[in-house]
Amino acid sequence: MRTFHIQMSEDCLFCKISAGTIPAKIAYQDEHCVAFHDINPQAPVHVLVIPRKHVPSVADIPDDLCAPLLSAADKVARDLGVGESYRLVTNKGADAGQSVFHLHWHVLGGRRLGWPPG
Ligand code: AMP
Ligand code: ZN
Repeated sequence: MRTFHIQMSEDCLFCKISAGTIPAKIAYQDEHCVAFHDINPQAPVHVLVIPRKHVPSVADIPDDLCAPLLSAADKVARDLGVGESYRLVTNKGADAGQSVFHLHWHVLGGRRLGWPPG
C-alpha cells in the first residue's frame, strides 16, 4: 500500500476523503488525484475527481496538475462505461454552485443531459 504525503487543509472535507479519514466510494486514485462517487448523484454516473493536494478552485490549479486531473476524469468516465458521452464540469464560486472549496470536476453521464444548465 502506497502512502502519499500531501499538503492538506484542516477541516476540508475533500482533503479528508483524499487522506482516507472520511470514507467515500473510490472509483480511481493515483499519486495526483482521487475520484469518488458523489453522495448525492445527479445522474447514473456522477463522480468527483479531486487533486490530492488542497487546491480551492480551478483558479488556483498548478499547471502540472491540469493534465493529470483531466486524464483521470476521462479514464473514470471510460471505466464506468460513459466514455462516449459525459459532461465534465467544475463550479467556481458560490454563485456558480461551488459548495466545497476544494477543486473537483464533476463527471456526469449515463443519461441525456440538458443544456443550458440551471
Ligand atoms: P459543488 O457544489 O460543485 O461544490 O459540488 C460538491 C459536491 O460534493 C456535491 O455534488 C455534493 O453532493 C458532493 N458531496 C458533498 N459531500 C460529499 C461526500 N461526503 N462524499 C461524496 N460527495 C460529497
Ligand atoms: Zn482540501
